[in-house]
Amino acid sequence: MAWKTIKKPREGWAVEPNLLDYERVRAQFSWEAARRELDGLPGGRGLNIAHEAVDRHAAGAHGSHLAIRWMGKRGEIRDFTYADLSRLTNRFANVLRKLEVQKGERVFALCGRIPELYVTVLGALKNCNVFCPLFSAFGPEPIHQRISIGDGRVLVTTTTLYKRKLAAIRDSLPDLRHVILIGAPEEVRAIPGVLDFHQLMDEAAGRFEIPPTAPEDLALLHFTSGTTGKPKGAMHVHDAVVAHHMTGRFALDFHPGDIFWCTADPGWVTGTSYGIIAPLTHGITSIVDEAEFDAERWYALLQDQKVTVWYTAPTAVRMMMKIGTEVIRKYDLRNLRFIASVGEPLNPEAVVWGQEAFGLPIHDNWWQTETGGIMIANYAAMDIRPGSMGRPLPGIDAGIVHLRKDGTVEEVTAPHIEGELALRPGWPSMFRGYLHEDERYRKCFAGGWYLTSDLAKRDAEGYFWFVGRADDVIKSSGHLIGPFEVESALLEHQAVAEAGVIGKPDPVAGEVVKAFVSLKPPNVPSEQLRAELLGFARKRLGAVVAPKEIDFVPSVPKTRSGKIMRRLLKARELGLPEGDTSTLESE
Ligand code: ATP
Ligand code: MG
Repeated sequence: MAWKTIKKPREGWAVEPNLLDYERVRAQFSWEAARRELDGLPGGRGLNIAHEAVDRHAAGAHGSHLAIRWMGKRGEIRDFTYADLSRLTNRFANVLRKLEVQKGERVFALCGRIPELYVTVLGALKNCNVFCPLFSAFGPEPIHQRISIGDGRVLVTTTTLYKRKLAAIRDSLPDLRHVILIGAPEEVRAIPGVLDFHQLMDEAAGRFEIPPTAPEDLALLHFTSGTTGKPKGAMHVHDAVVAHHMTGRFALDFHPGDIFWCTADPGWVTGTSYGIIAPLTHGITSIVDEAEFDAERWYALLQDQKVTVWYTAPTAVRMMMKIGTEVIRKYDLRNLRFIASVGEPLNPEAVVWGQEAFGLPIHDNWWQTETGGIMIANYAAMDIRPGSMGRPLPGIDAGIVHLRKDGTVEEVTAPHIEGELALRPGWPSMFRGYLHEDERYRKCFAGGWYLTSDLAKRDAEGYFWFVGRADDVIKSSGHLIGPFEVESALLEHQAVAEAGVIGKPDPVAGEVVKAFVSLKPPNVPSEQLRAELLGFARKRLGAVVAPKEIDFVPSVPKTRSGKIMRRLLKARELGLPEGDTSTLESE
């Protein structure tokens, strides 16, 4: 089905979008000029993310502005102004200094979305440590793997998580010098060989001068989602804050006074780049919700907190779609101005559903752990072509390339031709390496491009369209088929909640398309529904691209960051080993 373009007005906006004149801003943009919009450390001592995010807003009138409103699982609310956040992160930086944690050493955190996590991230950055998040639902093995690969020196976690996940592996992490626990004092005291977060904080001074920080000093270590294999450790530097700031403006349309909610967990890059850093650099208010997804809780939060800008993910959108639009009518969401999504392709169905449910389309944007920030986006002023990831932001040159057999690269300039999505290196949040994997890092670059391992195409107006991950693309009877296209078509059927599509080896076609489908209640699997879905897909996609087989599954396996793990569907289908499943959401 051809989706209609969603037109945006040219004028008369209640809040004028930041990127109103894309061509002009793009033509005039330079990262040098963008860097000048930030303050830099006082006295020309360099550039530090935490200073740009917190301290520069803490002095003066803006100090009393709300930086983070934390909403606990049980309904508690705690507010942190910029001045509060500055003091607390100073204290934590002093804690690290007193523990003699040296510049560049790595500080890990394993916490849910609790206020101490935010203090840890920003305090570690102030002390010039490299911060690495661990997703709180990881089991002991993935935790061990990441702390040891990442040379963790300090770990901040809670007493509960420590007992459940760390106590047993602590001895096998000899280089982890300090474990700092958040919890009731008597509980912390009862555990040998650990320190008490709150006691250390109480004893630490509230003033801290950030040491000189070079823009190229390492700041963040982020493990990728592990969708296609073993997670890689992408390293980022303090200069990344320039890109966080500018992309917050262009892609998320931050304006002074905004109340922003990023639903991603800081265990993943979206949750730090946009759940922490970018909104703070703009001096706006972020909502942090400790609880997990619950559609009604979310709608109530959007209403009660008067959220203006909301950044979420396709899995969440699909879960909301499953529940329907009726319930949304109970809430007053008039403050909501802009919705964006990242992490996976956003099916056109979902973009349009946003319009129906919230009166706003959902703006898809594309980036990766490696890129550190949003690269391609449907920005606020842009007409949306549902299913497209949008256009490259100012400062980002994206292209479609073909890798020739001799290792050289050819850029495809004609529209509608599939190839690998590539970016011209040089933006500030670009990763500076994969930890301990130099060769792998080098292989990401060829012919002056960074190769993303995603396949895409560009249309005549410069909109980019995601085709699939290079590893997931299906080759059937000489055709290249992106699973996303097939999944999106299936999702258009009213009974389908989720779909994951793979190529199944076939002696004649090479591969045939096979789909795994979960259903929206009250639908239940039946032969009749299977036949109906096969026919439905064939009508939309044609015989070559449509699935030949459909299996019904209770849910499609996903990473904990919400990405469909097609490699796992494939391994299971073929009876092969499942590979690294450390990031698999429990099924
Ligand atoms: P790994 O590299 O370990 O396999 P991963 O690639 O899923 O995991 P991330 O860096 O978290 O880890 O995810 C980035 C990838 O997610 C992109 O390369 C792309 O495949 C997919 N992605 C993100 N946003 C979008 C989007 N808007 N449209 C399509 N795909 C997207
Ligand atoms: Mg990847």
